[in-house]
Amino acid sequence: MSAHREAVPAVGAPFVRCEELVRIYKVADLEVFALQGLDLEVARGELVAIVGNSGSGKSTLLNILGGLDRPTAGRVSVGGKDLLRLSGAEMLRYRRDDVGFVWQNPSRNLIQYLTVQQNVELPLLLAGRLDGAGRKWAAQLVDAVGLGHRRAHHVSELSMGEQQRAAIAIGLSNRPGLILADEPTGSVDNANAEAILDVFHRLKEDFGTTVIIVTHDPRVSTLVDRVVGIRDGKASMEFLRSSGPVAAGAGERREHDEYVMLDRAGRLQLPPQVLEELGDARRLRVSWEDGRVVLLPHAGS
Ligand code: ADP
Ligand code: MG
Repeated sequence: MSAHREAVPAVGAPFVRCEELVRIYKVADLEVFALQGLDLEVARGELVAIVGNSGSGKSTLLNILGGLDRPTAGRVSVGGKDLLRLSGAEMLRYRRDDVGFVWQNPSRNLIQYLTVQQNVELPLLLAGRLDGAGRKWAAQLVDAVGLGHRRAHHVSELSMGEQQRAAIAIGLSNRPGLILADEPTGSVDNANAEAILDVFHRLKEDFGTTVIIVTHDPRVSTLVDRVVGIRDGKASMEFLRSSGPVAAGAGERREHDEYVMLDRAGRLQLPPQVLEELGDARRLRVSWEDGRVVLLPHAGS
C-alpha cells in the first residue's frame, strides 16, 4: 500500500475535507447537478449538521463521504485517506471500518427478528471480531443509547425512536471515526429527536467520534455546534454557536451566529432575505472599508 493512503492528517488538518465537489447525474439526455463545487471541512470530533431543502444535494454528499458514490469532479478525503484513490478492496474496508451509517429509516440498519443486543453485535460478527470484549462493547453501546432495559427485546417490539437509537448503536459498533446520519430525526417526535442528538453529543465527547448529520429538520440546527446551510449543491451559509459559556448538556438550545461562506473562487451566495431587499439589482460595487466588505447596489442596475 502506498504511503499517501496511510498518511495521518497533519496536526490541525480537517478530518473531513471536500474541495469543489461536483456530482452530475445523467438521466436520459438531462444532466442533474446534485453538487456544484461544494467545499466543506469538518474537524475531528466535531458534530455538524448540514441543513438544506429537499433536492439540495445532502444525500449525494453523504453517499460520497461514505464511499457509496464517487464525485464527478473535485477532491474528498477522510482521516487523511483520499477517497478517490482507494482501490475497490480499500473502499470496502473503508466502508466497513471507518464509517458508520444511520439512515432515516432505521429498518435499513436493523434486523427485525434479532434482539437489540444481537443487532449491535452483528457488524462485529461479520467482521470476525465478536469475542468477549466485543460483546461487552456492544452492551456498552446499547446502554449509551439508553436502551439497556430493551437489550433482550426484538427490534419489532421497539418504538420508532427506540429503533432509531438502536440504529445509532449499530452504526457505532465497529468503532468508526466518522458517523454519517441521513435525516436521523425524520420520523421521530421532538423528545426522541433530542434524545438522538444527545446520543451524538455523548459519542463525540466520550469517543471523539466525528458526526455529520444531513437534514431538512430545523429542530436539529438548535442542537449542534455548527450548521452548514446547503443550497443548490453548494455550502452557502454557516451558523456557529455563539461564544460564551459552552454548555455541557445537548438538550438545551444553542444560540448561533450566522455567516455567509466564500468559496475558493471568491463566490458567495447572499441569503434569500438580502436578495429580496436587493430586488432586481444585479450590479454591486464592492469595497473594503475599515475591515468591512461593503456591497453597494448600483442605482438602476
Ligand atoms: P437531498 O438529499 O438534499 O434531498 P439529493 O442529494 O438526494 O438531495 O439530490 C440532489 C439532486 O440530485 C436532486 O435534484 C435529485 O433529484 C438528484 N438526484 C439524486 N440522486 C439521483 C440519481 N441517482 N439519479 C438522478 N438524479 C439524482
Ligand atoms: Mg436526502
